[in-house]
Amino acid sequence: MNMRQTMLSEFEIKQLSRRFETSGVEEILEWAVKQFGDGLVMTSNFGAEGVALIDHLARVAPHTPIVYLSTGFQFAETDQLKDRLRERYRLNIVEKSAALSVEEQGRIYGEKLYERDPDLCCRLRKVEPLGDALIGYDAWIAALRRSQSPTRANIGVVEWNARHNLIKLNPLAGWTRRDVWDYIVKHDLPYNPLHNEGYTSIGCVPCTRRVEAGAHERSGRWAGRQKVECGMHL
Ligand code: SF4
Repeated sequence: MNMRQTMLSEFEIKQLSRRFETSGVEEILEWAVKQFGDGLVMTSNFGAEGVALIDHLARVAPHTPIVYLSTGFQFAETDQLKDRLRERYRLNIVEKSAALSVEEQGRIYGEKLYERDPDLCCRLRKVEPLGDALIGYDAWIAALRRSQSPTRANIGVVEWNARHNLIKLNPLAGWTRRDVWDYIVKHDLPYNPLHNEGYTSIGCVPCTRRVEAGAHERSGRWAGRQKVECGMHL
């Protein structure tokens, strides 16, 4: 067992996760700030859940670094929302790019790698940069919900993330999509305008499609493929 894992035992992590099932998001974040201080980091691509969580975080610990993985394939609307949120909350957004530019990746692996091998493309542009970005932190806040997909159905509010060797916090684990949008509307929060055009979940341009009304909210991501996750949260 490494030094950081000993900060909370497996038993304590499970106990906390159970306890926070009925807690408000701010209470969870306040505990996290007290527990981890400067060792706390959030990641976001500013989806609807991210916006709701950032609104909470901005009240509790507005200077927490928020890592944004700049893949080079984002929608312009996502970048514009990032700038709006930074200005509104004075956020500490840390942009992290892949080791290879899009052009370098094209030269080495061929153009449109996302069509031929999206797992490799995600690894190069998201998973590896995320790994670099999380180095040195003790706890990682993410805006995942259990109801987003079967791959997220069993997430805890507090978890040990062995891949990155830190605590992972999912304060919105029990929220529904309806909860997120009720919160956004109630607090008049900015959000990605693509959500109004049928994009229920927004990632990179080549791998994101509009979805029909009633379709699963993440069915527009890597549509037509078996892939359902970029790999960051696996
Ligand atoms: Fe590449 Fe698509 Fe993954 Fe973005 S979502 S990193 S474009 S495969």
